[in-house]
Amino acid sequence: MAFADVLGQTHACQQLRHAMQQDALAHSWIFAGPEGVGKRLTALALVQGLLCQSPSHQTDGLPDSCGRCRSCRHLASWAHPDLHFVQPTSDKTQIVVEQIRAACQFLAMTAMEGRWKVVVIDDALAMNESAASALLKTLEEPSPQSLLILLTTTPGRLLATIRSRCQMLRFAPLSPPILTSLLERQTSVALEVRQQAAQLAEGSMARAITLCQPELVQMRDELMADLTTIANQPLALLCSMAENWSERERFQQTLLLLRSWLRSNWHDHPVTRHWIAYSLWLEQINRTAAIYNLNRQLTLESVFIRLQRLLILQQQRTVAMSGQ
Ligand SMILES: [Zn+2]
Repeated sequence: MAFADVLGQTHACQQLRHAMQQDALAHSWIFAGPEGVGKRLTALALVQGLLCQSPSHQTDGLPDSCGRCRSCRHLASWAHPDLHFVQPTSDKTQIVVEQIRAACQFLAMTAMEGRWKVVVIDDALAMNESAASALLKTLEEPSPQSLLILLTTTPGRLLATIRSRCQMLRFAPLSPPILTSLLERQTSVALEVRQQAAQLAEGSMARAITLCQPELVQMRDELMADLTTIANQPLALLCSMAENWSERERFQQTLLLLRSWLRSNWHDHPVTRHWIAYSLWLEQINRTAAIYNLNRQLTLESVFIRLQRLLILQQQRTVAMSGQ
């Protein structure tokens, strides 16, 4: 993965390549941004740029890796003796202190092949308290030619002492055209499906790929059909809609799709405080539903009734404005 292959993150990539060119790369970085926007790939592009045996310059005059040398070939599969990758343990919940100690020891050793030793921690928020504390010493006294990259979706929840010792690099959500183009490379679904998935993915490639799955495409179409008529439905029908979407397998996806639909339609209605409050409320329900056993049907009844009120209010405003 060269920088040239990372789509949609030009700003982040250029910042790193400028730092490489000026030999002014910080030892510790936080790559922060939503899931599925290219943080991991950019980290790999940076490592490849640093370890490449035959680096070159792109037409913009900034450095990039060759993609062909032995080092680049190793890195294509995240396998290189000077790269250490840390992920949550097999139960997928925590990064423990032993993993961080091993990573710090790795950083302190002399590079085997390249000039740099690199550790990538994904996801940094999974570090438990003792793991995070163990990392602090390395952050305070980094070894020469060592690079530490922390990947996270929520940098604000990392320890302040970790944040203050790292350079923050923000990753923006990917635009729908970029997502559509990436989906073309990675899936074989029709253009229309790709475009709709890209529109609803809220800038995340991971979410866009999920939205291309046939069962999700069908769900999305059915839900969108319901939503387009919701403003004019009697209460009994809203309740039956809620029942229809409340099956265990469909419930959480329904909330996610609804939130994505809302955000992708911001431009269709003025973003009033009511819409923002509704969107935040949906997120809160989503988080609660992941932890507690909610009454799914009653929850969706409230979701649909409140949406109907907002749409009716919106229609009244539009009529009032057109009459002025
Ligand atoms: Zn190379």
